[in-house]
Amino acid sequence: MNVLLVGSGGREHAIAWALAKSKRNGGTACAANVVNVPIQPVGPLFSNLVGFAVENNVELVVAGPEQPLVEGIHAAFRKVGIACFGPSKEAARIEGSKAFSKEFMARHHIPTAAYKTFTKFEDAKAYIEAFKGSFVIKADGLAAGKGVLLPETVAEGIEGLKSIMVDSIFGSAGAEVVIEERMTGEEVSILALSDGYTVIPFPAAQDHKRAYDGDKGPNTGGMGAYAPAPVYTSDLAAEVKRTILQPAIDGMRRDGFPFVGVLFAGLMLTPTGPKVVEFNCRFGDPETQTVLPLLDDHCDLAEIMLACTQGRLDAVPVAFKRQVAVTVVGAAKGYPGTYEKGKTIPVPPSIDANTHIFHAGTALKDGKLVSSGGRVLAVTATAATIPEALINAYKTLDLVKFEGMEYRIDIAHRAVKLLET
Ligand code: ATP
Repeated sequence: MNVLLVGSGGREHAIAWALAKSKRNGGTACAANVVNVPIQPVGPLFSNLVGFAVENNVELVVAGPEQPLVEGIHAAFRKVGIACFGPSKEAARIEGSKAFSKEFMARHHIPTAAYKTFTKFEDAKAYIEAFKGSFVIKADGLAAGKGVLLPETVAEGIEGLKSIMVDSIFGSAGAEVVIEERMTGEEVSILALSDGYTVIPFPAAQDHKRAYDGDKGPNTGGMGAYAPAPVYTSDLAAEVKRTILQPAIDGMRRDGFPFVGVLFAGLMLTPTGPKVVEFNCRFGDPETQTVLPLLDDHCDLAEIMLACTQGRLDAVPVAFKRQVAVTVVGAAKGYPGTYEKGKTIPVPPSIDANTHIFHAGTALKDGKLVSSGGRVLAVTATAATIPEALINAYKTLDLVKFEGMEYRIDIAHRAVKLLET
């Protein structure tokens, strides 16, 4: 089966790796042919991409990033009869508009922080001034993961509000804002497959957003992740499915925009139960690099994705290994600020069979592998225990260390601490 995977980051490398093992693609152990095509996925018609897919008899499109989904890539392929794993533009609003997402959750009684939305700066400012307790300010639209402010004071809040609503630092994405109560608790990322009816979550992951050890330093796209997170007990998993995941999938279908793809629920485990911080409409990065290697060997991701597009997820096997996975990201010196590029990355002759290297920002230059992005690569190791997976992940990371490579040495620290108690 010819599959067109849209996107070019570490998440997409992990998806490509899992898809390449599909029996539909001619075998196991990466026997499939993987070809990179330099076409930008730009809407609203995605003509170049659709043309390429038609010419090459593509049967399934898998959309990695949120932008093309929010811009309607699903409909562009549906129009020419090609199945797309990823939600329609209407369903992608669950990520594309935080005001829409909050309103959807309120309507379907899905637990989340109390909130109010504003389109006028003066009204939002007055609300903050009268707010009792800590609050969070969110630009409504997509802001590349930077649209959420966690102010410590009212003055800081007003300053942030002004930058979003008056100075328009996020453009039209900040024309509306959501102001919500600040929750406390551990965060977990739940990636869940859905065909619009059935919802099957991957093992719960925890990521590491800050650049430096001890969760210090600036926010990044994610410096590592691990799964399953021991804090997410089977009781919690059952509660989340009953109160969050299934109501969200049923709600979207009943509201007329069924969700097909991966629903990513960012949750906070608050003292009053699990609540939604945000919904994303696609696989997360780096959580995908962590959870896909946990998919059981007899499960076929291409088959699963195709089944999702056909409303028959319940008819294909989806199971997970009784193992843990740890992912450590190797970033360029300076990331997430201005970073170095063009550093030679060593290519080890072989690595442990339970370890994977996923490329995010690499390129071939004069036959050599070099760094070309901020987050350069991620190493995932699967093992029976977290300490074992950590040892293997860092051992492999050592083999691909390039000049100036930055990485955290405390990935999975929450799990390690929990397991020690
Ligand atoms: P992402 O980079 O995950 O796409 P985003 O810009 O869509 O981020 P959110 O995930 O909604 O934003 O928020 C980013 C982070 O801000 C969360 O991971 C969480 O740590 C914090 N946060 C957001 N909302 C709240 C809240 N109501 N209470 C406490 N913390 C919050």
